[in-house]
Amino acid sequence: MAFARASLKNLPSFRRGVHPPDAKAATCGRPIEPMPFVSEYVLPLGQSIGAPSAPLVDPGDTVSRGQRIAAPGGFVSVALHAPVKGVVTAIEPRPRAGGQIVPSIVLRADPFSNQMPQLSEPLDLGSMDRDSVVSAVQNAGIVGLGGAAFPSHVKLAIPEEKRVRTVIVNGCECEPYLTCDHRIMVEHPKEVIRGTEILLKISGAEQAFIGVESNKPDAIEALTSVAPDNVRVVPTAVKYPQGGERMLIAAILGPEVGAGGLPLDVEVLVNNVGTAFALTNLFDKGQPLIDRVFTVTGPAIAEPKNLLVPIGTKISDIVEHCGGLLPSAKQVVLGGPMMGLSLSRLDVPLVKGASGLLCLDSVAPSSSEAFACIRCARCVSACPMGLNPSRLTRIAEAGKAEDLPDAHIGSCFECASCSFVCPSGIPLVQWIRIGKTLVAERREEE
Ligand code: SF4
Ligand code: SF4
Repeated sequence: MAFARASLKNLPSFRRGVHPPDAKAATCGRPIEPMPFVSEYVLPLGQSIGAPSAPLVDPGDTVSRGQRIAAPGGFVSVALHAPVKGVVTAIEPRPRAGGQIVPSIVLRADPFSNQMPQLSEPLDLGSMDRDSVVSAVQNAGIVGLGGAAFPSHVKLAIPEEKRVRTVIVNGCECEPYLTCDHRIMVEHPKEVIRGTEILLKISGAEQAFIGVESNKPDAIEALTSVAPDNVRVVPTAVKYPQGGERMLIAAILGPEVGAGGLPLDVEVLVNNVGTAFALTNLFDKGQPLIDRVFTVTGPAIAEPKNLLVPIGTKISDIVEHCGGLLPSAKQVVLGGPMMGLSLSRLDVPLVKGASGLLCLDSVAPSSSEAFACIRCARCVSACPMGLNPSRLTRIAEAGKAEDLPDAHIGSCFECASCSFVCPSGIPLVQWIRIGKTLVAERREEE
């Protein structure tokens, strides 16, 4: 079925949200290139939400590319795999993005290896029950690749009393600048569709939708041309944060997931296109999660690229492969401009949940440069969760942790739409993060 451009009018979307410039032109047409192998790889043991992984190797051990080197540290935890053939040189604290020093497995790559991965047999989904599927996905180290790094098997462990009617695959990639999901959809549409069919089979759902913002017509066309009857590709409006789970469900199906609720409450399972691609690699090739597609872009990088990068590659090596930072560089952000993390150093590793690197020639104003709130309510109009970010900020600034839960601070998923629209330049999302820390500290004390 050919994709009809005329159908791009009156596209589905959600309530509120913002329209930052998409800034994807530098990389949206650049094919994914493999990142060359480098000498050292660093794998933090905690790369996803939940417990850190438990090492299965010791310093001095030789490992193959794709070999499991750490086991899940609990149910909400995943395995880790060697991204290269080489030697374990240390298991020691190393810096990671965000500034923390965390236990990590350090590998030195074998410079004489062709680095072909050691794969297991493909999996026969038809002969597996749900428990064995959940275990296989956990042991393949697969997490949500759209940024949150939520262990994928946890979503697939659907409780007996729940059912899933609809699978939604998220190809919106609404963060400005990033194009890794876009390129996966254009270059690997059959694998994305196959991953969607795997999700349908595992969940028992009857239908699937792949939501793609309409600024990616080539991706919509590529997917539509190979989609079977029970998988519908849905062009959505270009609006941030269209790729939020709740926003995508509201756009495609209508019902809103209530505060504190889960997609499962409306019988929906949502996964990212990168995750669907990773599931195809696991089930059809026996390949665990050892690489991810990563966008390097922004006005301050010499050669913007989309790369297939082994997990654990240092950001400094990736930057060097892209020709280095330009003299104008002022800030480097891991992730997109809305939800990314500003880096204070580049010798930190690429982790599973990181979608891109944004090299900027300016820095966002600090909170000391902000003006007073003028009560314009633009932040309220922007918030896709229907919160009052100005009020949350006032309470957090006053340190009144006890009042924050009633103001529904837990519903904030830190999309930064409120900060983006604030004419006073108030870093609302930073204050909300501080507020969440206050709430957590208070709970601990209690
Ligand atoms: S960061 Fe939180 S409060 Fe601000 S717009 Fe997003 S969800 Fe709403
Ligand atoms: S957008 Fe900024 S200035 Fe306007 S009400 Fe919200 S916090 Fe105040």
